Amino acid sequence: MTNRAFNFNAGPAALPLEVLQQAQQEFIDYAGAGMSIMEMSHRSSIFEQVNDGAQSLLRELFGIPSHYKVLFLQGGASTQFAMIPMNLLSAGKSAAFVHTGSWADKAIKEAKLIGETTIVASSEADKFNRIPSLSEIQLPEHAAYLHITSNETIEGTQYAAYPETGDVTLIADMSSDILCRPVDVSKFGMIYAGAQKNLGPSGVTIVIVREDLVAESPKSIPTMLRYDTHAKNNSLYNTPPSFSIYLVGLMLKWVKEKGGVAAMEQFNRDKTKLIYDAIDQSGGFYRGFADAGSRSLMNITFRLGSEELEKQFVKESEKQGFVGLKGHRSVGGLRASTYNAVPHESCKALVEFMADFQKRNG
Ligand SMILES: *Cc1c(COP(=O)(O)O)cnc(C)c1O
Repeated sequence: MTNRAFNFNAGPAALPLEVLQQAQQEFIDYAGAGMSIMEMSHRSSIFEQVNDGAQSLLRELFGIPSHYKVLFLQGGASTQFAMIPMNLLSAGKSAAFVHTGSWADKAIKEAKLIGETTIVASSEADKFNRIPSLSEIQLPEHAAYLHITSNETIEGTQYAAYPETGDVTLIADMSSDILCRPVDVSKFGMIYAGAQKNLGPSGVTIVIVREDLVAESPKSIPTMLRYDTHAKNNSLYNTPPSFSIYLVGLMLKWVKEKGGVAAMEQFNRDKTKLIYDAIDQSGGFYRGFADAGSRSLMNITFRLGSEELEKQFVKESEKQGFVGLKGHRSVGGLRASTYNAVPHESCKALVEFMADFQKRNG
């Protein structure tokens, strides 16, 4: 019927076929309105239901306590790198970071433009192949918050457990692993994620934030960059990315139908085990990049004996219907992104291709 690729793209990434089909069905005429979601007012009651529905499904699935706000913003996770220090880093305080790789680096660079930063742990000496051990983390007394990158999409590392920060606000960039496993949201002051990896299409960024942190932003910040603007207006201060929010809602419904976030974790563990086992049992033909204890459930990074062989792997995989297996240009190698929506069959097909490629080139 439909010719679907084995899609291992890092982001934007695979969406469930069921979600795309439902969107297709409703594309021209949503709920009998005689128009597409894209054509209707964001102040209409139909869109209000879409907006509130996506919010409450996210609350339900992720177990978000009632004293947290859920915001749908624009500008990507990258805009949050600046908005966080603008809103939450006051003079005399320092933004603390765990430096885990490419995305942490971007967050740190933005915060430096706004105020003081402290790197409390880093795995740079190991080329970011692991999450630093939590016992290494010492927070400065004047820390405004601790920022972590829950999953480093490019290096393929992920926190197995989150740091305890006591009274210090913990903030996590979960752009590439939100909803891949259950999380105790109450440990965090804020969690944010661009939607295009694990939650839907590009265009909307999810911010989950404790109410007290966004009650009053500093008056000097422009309106659109203040959390209080969006918190006070239910993310409808200006025109929201309505179609993206609608698709996030469909994706959340899909997660719920699959059994929720705990079921997603099991599903992801089964999928990634297939591929990590294929790497580990290849006798060194495939070499995993991340340390065993820091391996990501979402981005599997690995290498072959030479760059030439890696190029050949990518080329041949593309001929067989695989997409997105080339590693990020900054680190090279290979990467399979196995987000929630990536089907088990794609991972099984990849493992078969890997075995066949090794047989021919090993
Ligand atoms: C993709 C990604 C980002 C950037 O997201 P944009 O929405 O493109 O700004 C930030 N952090 C992590 C961990 C990512 O994977």
